[in-house]
Amino acid sequence: MERLNGKVAIITGGAGGIGKATAKLFLEQGAKVVIVDINKEVLEKTSSELDHENLSYCVADISKAEDNENYVEHTLEVHGKIDIFFANAGIEGVSRPIAEYPEETFDKVIAVNLKGVWLGCKHVIPKMKKGGSVIITSSVAGLKGFAGLGAYVATKHAIVGIMRVAALENAERKIRVNTIHPGPVNNDMMRRIEKDVSPENPKEVLKGFESVVPFGRYAESNELAEMALFLASDESKYITGCTHVVDGGMLTA
Ligand code: NAD
Repeated sequence: MERLNGKVAIITGGAGGIGKATAKLFLEQGAKVVIVDINKEVLEKTSSELDHENLSYCVADISKAEDNENYVEHTLEVHGKIDIFFANAGIEGVSRPIAEYPEETFDKVIAVNLKGVWLGCKHVIPKMKKGGSVIITSSVAGLKGFAGLGAYVATKHAIVGIMRVAALENAERKIRVNTIHPGPVNNDMMRRIEKDVSPENPKEVLKGFESVVPFGRYAESNELAEMALFLASDESKYITGCTHVVDGGMLTA
């Protein structure tokens, strides 16, 4: 059974780990998918790897209003509607205590992770017509603190607030809004974090994370895609305004 038959989905950060895995799964489940990403080269590579007639892509920087307008316009031109919005793009910044955190990096993380999600909601949600599902990728860092990740933690908490407000504002229109909270995921973002935290010995960071995850391993990107699919499909039709943790037990430990 195809769980997203006839649905049109936009996925930001669609060239990266979780976005790409979700695009693949959504296509398999019958959706038409537009992947959006700032990285043209990786976007083209992802697009040719997924190689599907129902897939198209848009290069966009989600922190810019005009770029958000452009991918919305593209989706409406090609598919005539939007049913699912996966606001997933995000950046990690650097790992430094607040006293040492570079201000320009802080501004950049706010621009992408917070303003980018807000702009996406602002431009996409009004164009959703007969119901829909908005899924925002936060993090376990949106529900607890991590020393050194001040900018990231602040933005991932803040978008839970956006989710709650958007859920209330759009309930009457039958548009559901939820957040996903991954623990560490085995993809490029984690590789960059490992190198930033321990340039000499990135594998130590892996060990450190594994020791605080009861399942003893990182998630794979497709395990987040499965949650996105559940929230995108009608199986979750009574669920809105909620946080959904996919972390191998990390938060409860
Ligand atoms: P990733 O780095 O593989 O993918 C992120 C994608 O977002 C990249 O393709 C990147 O080019 C794109 N992007 C970055 N800035 C952008 C911008 N301004 N406009 C458009 N696209 C932009 O990492 P991922 O794990 O797939 O990240 C997806 C989401 O998951 C992010 O919001 C991230 O914060 C969150 N997350 C990741 C982890 C992890 O361990 N990887 C853990 C918790 C939460």
